[in-house]
Amino acid sequence: MIHYKTQAEIEKIRKSCSMVIEALTRVADLLKPGMDGLTIDAAAEEVIRDYGALPGFKGFNGFPSTLCISKNESVVHGIPDDVPFTETDILSIDCGVLFDGYYGDSAYTFALGEVDNAVMQLLAVTRESLYRGIAKAVEGNRMGDIGHAVQHFCEQEHKYSIVRELVGHGIGEELHEAPEVPNYGRRGMGSKLKQGLVIAIEPMVNMGRKSVVQARDGWTINTKDGKPSAHFEHTVAIGKQGADILSDHTLLEAAIKNNANLKEVSLKN
Ligand code: MG
Ligand code: MG
Repeated sequence: MIHYKTQAEIEKIRKSCSMVIEALTRVADLLKPGMDGLTIDAAAEEVIRDYGALPGFKGFNGFPSTLCISKNESVVHGIPDDVPFTETDILSIDCGVLFDGYYGDSAYTFALGEVDNAVMQLLAVTRESLYRGIAKAVEGNRMGDIGHAVQHFCEQEHKYSIVRELVGHGIGEELHEAPEVPNYGRRGMGSKLKQGLVIAIEPMVNMGRKSVVQARDGWTINTKDGKPSAHFEHTVAIGKQGADILSDHTLLEAAIKNNANLKEVSLKN
């Protein structure tokens, strides 16, 4: 069952998302080669708890951490560890917050300073595909319009592969609510989008083939072919004129720009 949100509820989700973005911005300030996942996980958790909020992922189905950190060939759900980051790592970092009864959820794939241009292009295309999907998140469209926009850009225009097993989701009083939000689909198909629907759109895009496997830790999802994967996510509210992005990345991207150890994700790369 889909829970459509009132504007007051949407503002609560925006508040939780703003804490997610503050936590990810803190991460962007800290990232450098030699840094490790446990350190940035603790820093993100501190930002969230300083607001009296709760990390949305910690304890969710037993997940141990505030952040999901998924390196290189890992797609999503990586567990932060003490392995130092290297100058060629890409890191999908996903964060959720629960505050005042509502969740926020957003993710960004960060690139350390020596990531090669082919991988930077994967990141840029994945990021752009998220915005292509969001552009279709308008009342009167259907879920398949979002998935088609993401899939067509990544697979037809850029010859990457969309992960099929993992999808976006409704969000609100639960981290994962109905409906599912696939990153693939057919135009004009699927459920109708209505004002008040709040969803997390989160393309997961592989440089090589689409197949994924779960690691032995029971969480991390890796590409089967070992090639890199990228992941970007926004929480958005469907409106009559367009989508309202509740997890604005402006602050986060400014922090990336100011950190000389990180490369900016841009289609101009
Ligand atoms: Mg997420
Ligand atoms: Mg999500």
